[in-house]
Amino acid sequence: MRLNTNENSYAVPPDVVAAITAAVAGCASDLNRYPDREFTALREDLAAWLTEQTGVAVEAEQVWAGNGSNEVLQHVVQAFAGPGRVALGFTPAYSMHPIISRTMGSTWVDGHRGGPDGPFDLTEGDVVAQVLAAAPHVVFLCSPNNPTGSALDLEIVRAVLDAAPDAVVVVDEAYAEFARPGTPSALSLLAAYPQLVVTRTMSKAFALAGGRLGYLVAAPEVVDALRLVRMPYHLSTPTQEIARAALAHRSSLLAEVEAIKTQRDRIVETLAAQGFPPVPSDANFVLFGGLADAGRTWEALLARGVLVRDVGIAHHLRVTAGTPAETTAFLDAMAALPAEHRSQTAPEPSAEPSASQGAPA
Ligand SMILES: *Cc1c(COP(=O)(O)O)cnc(C)c1O
Repeated sequence: MRLNTNENSYAVPPDVVAAITAAVAGCASDLNRYPDREFTALREDLAAWLTEQTGVAVEAEQVWAGNGSNEVLQHVVQAFAGPGRVALGFTPAYSMHPIISRTMGSTWVDGHRGGPDGPFDLTEGDVVAQVLAAAPHVVFLCSPNNPTGSALDLEIVRAVLDAAPDAVVVVDEAYAEFARPGTPSALSLLAAYPQLVVTRTMSKAFALAGGRLGYLVAAPEVVDALRLVRMPYHLSTPTQEIARAALAHRSSLLAEVEAIKTQRDRIVETLAAQGFPPVPSDANFVLFGGLADAGRTWEALLARGVLVRDVGIAHHLRVTAGTPAETTAFLDAMAALPAEHRSQTAPEPSAEPSASQGAPA
């Protein structure tokens, strides 16, 4: 089973398949024409969805979209970073942030994580010091963070925005729909900070990774700058129609989000009890540690038909929360690992979920 790329394990449900099929059929005879280059109807639909999901009033003129959020991230880098300019991120975070920044000619500054509560935390003072030292043109934050899983405290986002008033600050919220209750979106800071960009995607919660639709919310002036760097007609008519059909049927598409969160929480609890410390997760995946050799455990899991991700963090692996059956197969494979897979310093497995299950690994 493929638990390595954080896709949604659930197939697109039949009513959404029917709506998408009808939408594509409806536009097919017009494909002799270029698409709406302003994708106005789609931007309105995305604004309505964001307003519903976050409670923050979003207008269509604040919305931008591309073929996946990777493309909208590339637009941001093209417009605001690039040759002679500096992009800063705090690793481990989303691997595409440095790749896109570098391929567009920017200088990438690899910031670091770590705080008193855990090696993957960001602390306000440390982040501000790194921002001031790097003097970046673009800063990348990722919340919930891939590959570690936890959402960022908005105070950290605010501190970065205050420390870098002339930089564009991107908060990548690809997994926002999976966050634990009470996790606010950085969208709530948009009114106060015109240089803030919040990116999202239909690839994860919406189960539409193959549809390629990512989007962002920013000040209209920022969106205008993105119009200068995009290719004309970058969003095809079918892409716009498929995304709109999916948004119109969002209650059906998003129905499995709660089920996925349940499996995510089950993975966190069970791994903690097994003695593989998990990082608290607001996403549809869990990063866990306690492994003697991540590469060897990755192979042992694959031998049992479970494909997870070795994200290059020593003694850790990342697993996507899938269906209940997929999760069971993964957890059974973990339980069956011979003792030599455990790192010497890992806690002993306990019969009960440990009291420290909410603590950072
Ligand atoms: C999966 C992911 C994306 C999604 O990229 P798309 O191009 O929209 O499929 C963006 N950011 C992060 C952090 C991700 O993990």
